[in-house]
Amino acid sequence: MTRVYNFSAGPAVLPEPVLQQAAAEMLDYKGTGMSVMEMSHRSKAFQGILDAAEADLRDLMGIPANYKVLFLQGGASTQFAAIPMNLMGGGVADYIVSGSWSKKAFKEAQRYGRANCLASSEDGNFSYVPAMDSIKVSSDADYVYICQNETIYGTLYHQLPETGTVPLVADVSSCFLSEPIDVARYGVIYGGVQKNVGPAGLAIAIVRDDLISDEVLECTPTMLKWKTAADNGSMYNTPPCWAIYISGLVFQWLKDQGGLTAMAERNRRKAAVLYDFLDQSQLFEGTARKEDRSLMNVPFITGDADLDAKFIAEAADHGIQNIKGHRSVGGMRASIYNAMPEEGVKALVDFMAAFEKENA
Ligand SMILES: *Cc1c(COP(=O)(O)O)cnc(C)c1O
Repeated sequence: MTRVYNFSAGPAVLPEPVLQQAAAEMLDYKGTGMSVMEMSHRSKAFQGILDAAEADLRDLMGIPANYKVLFLQGGASTQFAAIPMNLMGGGVADYIVSGSWSKKAFKEAQRYGRANCLASSEDGNFSYVPAMDSIKVSSDADYVYICQNETIYGTLYHQLPETGTVPLVADVSSCFLSEPIDVARYGVIYGGVQKNVGPAGLAIAIVRDDLISDEVLECTPTMLKWKTAADNGSMYNTPPCWAIYISGLVFQWLKDQGGLTAMAERNRRKAAVLYDFLDQSQLFEGTARKEDRSLMNVPFITGDADLDAKFIAEAADHGIQNIKGHRSVGGMRASIYNAMPEEGVKALVDFMAAFEKENA
């Protein structure tokens, strides 16, 4: 068996001990004589998995008691609609557009009410996060929406907008559990788990309980009403059992690693290895503005599409895979999520240095 260094933006690398434990438990989960995929979601064993996952996530993130944790289906993109459906009772919402994902969410919200664009960085091909000091939240806004880490452009909010009493809603799909955050600063924190947490098919929403109600837009399907999930312990229907199980194992792994403070330190170290190299390189260049750089997704280019293609092909031969950038930025993108070991980033930088020498 050979494992590669997988820099995919998502679905993405998972911790090896988690994969090993899942393999060991595949045929017989804790003496049940069946795999987690085969058991009833109403069984005692699965309820235990769900309860432990929620408890560990609450512990890891320090989620206050007045927030609900919802395990949902349909990925992050389904929440682009669910958010306005659940929150846009007043018909107005503010969006900050800092990349493709927030732009998609903004467009979706326009179907349900008046969605304002408070600020956008599209003029700079989303290479930066708009300035937070100039953000003026609408007095009648139901919520303010951000995508905290733009996966494609590799930018991260290092400062949150001041929204006063207006709830802040954040898509954290690609920075979930990468560092500690103050949950109380947000009304809703949500993301698809297939970037930094687990297998595709599960989205997690952490919602302040006053934002969960029956008063949703008329058009809201039962399944998209957060109250449905909240009232039924995320089991109104069959939940994505397997994805919840693996995510739960990842939460345990994160606790074993020392929690989010330890992960943040490791992630900063990893990102620094790559950014320090990029900053001195004569060949490679990072595309995101320095002050706004992501700890998780690092896009970079040589400025020559043929050379980029050569780099990507040769990297793959060296066990460095899925490093091709998104078409809207071009070049390369290294996603260095929690489960990417420090050796993986070092291997990448060593290979970049050798490639630079050879192609100078
Ligand atoms: C991948 C991604 C999404 C879309 O996730 P799906 O689960 O595929 O819908 C949304 N937002 C961000 C920030 C992402 O990285």
